[in-house]
Amino acid sequence: MLYYSTRDCERKNGITSSEAILRGIAPDGGLYMPESIPQVDESFINKLSQLDYAGRATEILSLFLTDYPKADIEACARAAYSEERFPGGAAPLKRLGDDLWSLELWHGPTCAFKDIALQIMPKLLSKALGITGAKENLMILVATSGDTGKAALEGYRDADRIKIIVFYPSEGVSRVQKLQMITQKGENTRVCGIRGNFDDAQNGVKALFADKEFAKELARAGYATSSANSINWGRLVPQIVYYFSAYCDMLSEGRINQGDEIDFCVPTGNFGDIFAAYIAKRMELPVGRLVCASNRNNILTDFIRTGVYDRNRPFYTTSSPSMDILISSNLERLIYTIAGPSETAEYMKLLSSEGRYKVSDAVLGEIARSFSGYCAGEDETAEAISALWKKYGYLCDTHTAVAMSCAARYAAAERPGRPMAAVSTASPYKFPSSVLRALAASEAPDGPEALQMLSDYTKTDIPLPLRGFDSAPVRFPGVCEPEGMRGECLSFAGDR
Ligand SMILES: *Cc1c(COP(=O)(O)O)cnc(C)c1O
Repeated sequence: MLYYSTRDCERKNGITSSEAILRGIAPDGGLYMPESIPQVDESFINKLSQLDYAGRATEILSLFLTDYPKADIEACARAAYSEERFPGGAAPLKRLGDDLWSLELWHGPTCAFKDIALQIMPKLLSKALGITGAKENLMILVATSGDTGKAALEGYRDADRIKIIVFYPSEGVSRVQKLQMITQKGENTRVCGIRGNFDDAQNGVKALFADKEFAKELARAGYATSSANSINWGRLVPQIVYYFSAYCDMLSEGRINQGDEIDFCVPTGNFGDIFAAYIAKRMELPVGRLVCASNRNNILTDFIRTGVYDRNRPFYTTSSPSMDILISSNLERLIYTIAGPSETAEYMKLLSSEGRYKVSDAVLGEIARSFSGYCAGEDETAEAISALWKKYGYLCDTHTAVAMSCAARYAAAERPGRPMAAVSTASPYKFPSSVLRALAASEAPDGPEALQMLSDYTKTDIPLPLRGFDSAPVRFPGVCEPEGMRGECLSFAGDR
């Protein structure tokens, strides 16, 4: 199976999956997509239900990464999704109410769902170096709204022939997220705050990927660039797995019958997670609707309802910072899947020149067949945290709360009558002060003390990876302007 850029109108620059994972982003600025979406049937899903998570991952990844030997994929999956890395399982499905589940994706080493992709992706990338015979070393450039950064640093730490540099908005992440990153260990890691928001960081990284002069200078130091963000197909494909896994779990537990549809509600920022769900649906996993849940930065809600994507609007810093995004990169993949490369290239041109585009009625109609868009403001997010705690004794983080709030509004408005799995993307302990404020309606300090206070208040345990990290030495206090990102990368490449 070959991969093409979403902007490759003539479809002539096909590459293999290992190359797509190595490159991250296409030279024309587009994102790589498989030439077709593999189709599965009931017997495939039945077979999957008998397997553990690593087995499920192996089967699904093998459908897409066709130039990898299946045994290699299995070895990567077994190492990534071990009991040691994900105690209790990679994607446990917790039943809350009659028709409501929480798909918990944050039991990995950094307590956010990004771990699921970023534990296996470095292994796939190392194999890709072998498969393609690439000679140069790699520098992974990462823009993060908080969680990708730490998960990527952990995933790539001490990897052979690979350096990783992470840029985060210096004032746009939670205190816990920041501490997790600036205390990162590993010889091959670097972290830098930027004065700006996530979009500035992401645009800066994308501009570096497109900068030929920069590529030359880096090559002189022995490095090619790659990406760990969800613009890289290697990030997205492992995320398809947990949608299948959730379905299989409901099937095995007798909650649904074969062929029944279920809905997913996904808290969305860069549109990567929910796009993986859409791929699962297109593969013929029986999925009803995909509810795209946004916070106060509700550009996607407006888009899904009207077909107009307009980033000329205020940017808000919210209690769910990993969703504070106005340029959702993976929307490009959705439009491409529906409308093909020419139309996609036109819209993306408008986005960069005008900051706005309107998709055709045909495209909007197709989006409306699969997606519903809802958003939750700050008060509604806090209310959802407190309501879930009171009603089910269920503690959730701010991002999950956005999803839960949207799922409730969706159920009330559209009366779907299907089981709903809301995707739970981070441990509540990553955002302890916001969660505590929602539960106890009292001001909590924005620091590591809040972890203990949350634990005392809820009588729940602080996850192991978040214990004691605040006493680790700060290795990366630095902050730069977005213009300084280039220099940071070059100086890092020169370091021995
Ligand atoms: C990254 C992230 C999201 C958004 O995921 P996208 O793939 O960017 O849409 C939601 N919640 C949390 C906790 C995240 O870290």
